[in-house]
Amino acid sequence: MEFYYGVDMGGTTIKMGRFDREGTLLEKWEIPTRKEDGGKHIFDDIAEAILTRTAAAGGSVDSIKAVGIDIPGTIWEDGYLELSVNVGLKDIYPTEELSRRLNHVPVACGNDASIAALGEYWKGGGAGHRSMVLITLGTGVGGGIVLDGKVIAGAHGIGGEIGHLPVRFGEQEVCNCGNRGCLEQVSSATGIVRETKRTLVSSDQPSSLREIRNLTAKDVLDAAKAGDALAKSVMDTVTHYLGVAMGIVSNIVDPEVFVIGGGVSAAGQDLIEWIREAYDANMYMTKKRADVQLAQLGNDAGIYGSVRLVLPE
Ligand SMILES: [Zn+2]
Repeated sequence: MEFYYGVDMGGTTIKMGRFDREGTLLEKWEIPTRKEDGGKHIFDDIAEAILTRTAAAGGSVDSIKAVGIDIPGTIWEDGYLELSVNVGLKDIYPTEELSRRLNHVPVACGNDASIAALGEYWKGGGAGHRSMVLITLGTGVGGGIVLDGKVIAGAHGIGGEIGHLPVRFGEQEVCNCGNRGCLEQVSSATGIVRETKRTLVSSDQPSSLREIRNLTAKDVLDAAKAGDALAKSVMDTVTHYLGVAMGIVSNIVDPEVFVIGGGVSAAGQDLIEWIREAYDANMYMTKKRADVQLAQLGNDAGIYGSVRLVLPE
């Protein structure tokens, strides 16, 4: 019996999957992320869950062949985790922590956004392509680059941080990263709401959104799809800056396909069409364009990507 595990560490839950040697998902589950005490229980919890599930499936410690894990944080090339704000871990080698709790099985580790990209590249929206850039539009904007099957996380762990490309010059508010005018400030779910509120204040154009309290990005997307002119003008701004960023990315890594994921991508094919138009308007060097596709794995992208790190070729 041979099992491979994919582990996707988030700030609230840790998602886990048990896979066979071919990469078929056999079962998945999640456990809470115990962030207290500097996250020192986290690796115990993960190891215990893996051992329990292995035993329940009729296996032994020897059945655990390898574990891949992703962490939301900056991971250096040598596997050193500098800091994960969301989880409370810092200054450790996650692979060593987990491996020594699991009879020294091989463990590989990567940044969550990059690993989600690897999952989508392997089994999701990027399948069948040689190169792919994932852009996740959620609370923030994340990104990951996969070229010829290899995740490009960079020498300092910030490769693929598309959300912090500065694209909106003149922005006065400060981004979480400390810069001003980052893509994340306008194209994340949070950014969409902020942009809408700004527009509602600065114009007196009628809009169904004026009636809504506790406005969400979904409200704005629904209204834009239903033909609300103000909502559509906000989405034009949102996708314009996304298109600018994608044009820049194309000029550097020139991927075959962009895959759009995250909560905002639930808006579906209409959103993809708007993004395609905005991207096309920002491509000058060649008539050939990267395709734009929806992500397909949803919350499972992390477990697929992390197990892919450790599966045999
Ligand atoms: Zn930023």
